Amino acid sequence: MSLLDDLRDALDDRLCLDPDVLDAHRHDAWALSQIRDQRGDPPPRPLAVVAAASTADVQTTLRLCRRAGASVVPFGAGSGVVGGVSTAADQVVLSTAKMSGLVSLSTEDLTATFLAGTRGDVAEAICQEAGLTIGHWPQSIALSSVGGWVATRASGQLSTGYGNIEDIVLDLEVVLPDGQVLTTKRIPRAAAGPDLRHLFLGSEGTTGVITTVTFSLRPLPAASRGAAIHFATLTDGLDAIRRILREGWRPTVVRLYDAAETRRQFDAWCPDGRCILLMLHEGPAGLVEAQEAGCAVLCQTTGTATDVAAVDSWLAVRNHVPTLGQLSAIGLVVDTIEVSAAWSRIGAVYDAVTASLSEVPELVAVSAHASHAYRSGVNLYFTFVAQPAARAEMERVYTECWRRTMESTAAAGGGISHHHGIGRVRRDFMPQELGAVGVDVLRRLKTALDPDGILNPGVMIP
Ligand SMILES: Cc1cc2nc3c(=O)[nH]c(=O)nc-3n(C[C@H](O)[C@H](O)[C@H](O)COP(=O)(O)OP(=O)(O)OC[C@H]3O[C@@H](n4cnc5c(N)ncnc54)[C@H](O)[C@@H]3O)c2cc1C
Repeated sequence: MSLLDDLRDALDDRLCLDPDVLDAHRHDAWALSQIRDQRGDPPPRPLAVVAAASTADVQTTLRLCRRAGASVVPFGAGSGVVGGVSTAADQVVLSTAKMSGLVSLSTEDLTATFLAGTRGDVAEAICQEAGLTIGHWPQSIALSSVGGWVATRASGQLSTGYGNIEDIVLDLEVVLPDGQVLTTKRIPRAAAGPDLRHLFLGSEGTTGVITTVTFSLRPLPAASRGAAIHFATLTDGLDAIRRILREGWRPTVVRLYDAAETRRQFDAWCPDGRCILLMLHEGPAGLVEAQEAGCAVLCQTTGTATDVAAVDSWLAVRNHVPTLGQLSAIGLVVDTIEVSAAWSRIGAVYDAVTASLSEVPELVAVSAHASHAYRSGVNLYFTFVAQPAARAEMERVYTECWRRTMESTAAAGGGISHHHGIGRVRRDFMPQELGAVGVDVLRRLKTALDPDGILNPGVMIP
């Protein structure tokens, strides 16, 4: 019997061969995949899509594919932006979309367990009905799955206050490539060897298929106050954030825009050429009041407070989804690239990336903001726009902009990814990032967990 016969026998209507469904699962939201689609060169249709309805379906799919030597590409909601999904004709896509919903919620332990395909906004709404929040709010909250958040090591807009996904995930259920199920324990912390959750946080579908995710929740904040301050330079704004984090204040949201992005989005609240910092303070009323005052003091030496309506305007559009596909349809090459660095190097990273991208003849604009701050450093989220003379040049210009950003970030001492992951777009820069020994460790881990290499080959590991 062929693999398709075996899958049909075992999974019945969860096996899908409809060409439209196969086409919809060929790739994620990577800008380069959209450019290739538009020039008529999409990845091949996969062999099949399995819409798993249960952990048992995931086990069956992996066991049958492993026996047949076919590789499997896990697919959450397809909002990944780094080419984590890009299929070949002999691959099976394993979609978690039907594995959706709440498994359990405890208001005492502040935990909620969801099936991995649950969309982010659906999971958050369920928690909010109980007066709680996950505290993870990526711009793509309505486009992404909770399993995808874990697989990509995602960050939400509230990360400065509430942490990134690795701080919020309490336990996982994962199906390993041989079909065994690993369930990590629901306890607040352990010292029982290395933390097994980290084999799957950021694994991009290469080490196992995540089937349930348990979050450590928070009560919805009792109070919330915004603050907006502008600075003469990006350096002044970064230094204010550094001092805020150093003193121990934890605004839920911290976003500092360079002059170009400030002009584009906040010119109503900021004189031209300055850089705006937005903050949101959340929590018990007394803490919010103290934090607002503490942060204001640290900003006032170099910054000027402006109307808090700037924060409201950001809140109103914070889940707006940019239509990159429409821009590439008119010949523009556009993408965003997030990197990070220690405080002592972040200014050099900004200067190096903007200078290097400006040497690309086709570049129209480059700008950045910082949106995830830590005691020891901060991220930068670059946006670039380029306009090649011909459509045939779009992929070359795209690749050139990425190469320059990766290499100049690394040369200035930064890290090449903050929260979108590696996928295919950053894969070949991994030796620079992890070192030869680091890449070797990653390969050994992959081989130990997936000796036949059936899970999402071609991603992350060069
Ligand atoms: C407009 C827009 C805004 C975005 N904003 C943010 C943001 O604010 N913060 C952020 O972090 N990201 C953001 N992203 C990126 C994207 O939403 C995240 O990477 C998200 O976590 C991907 O989830 P997904 O369910 O869509 O995963 P998919 O795109 O389906 O998959 C991503 C990767 O994870 C693997 N995978 C998916 N599900 C599983 C599973 N259950 N088990 C094992 N592997 C799996 C896939 O094989 C693939 O390699 C944004 C994307 C867009 C398009």
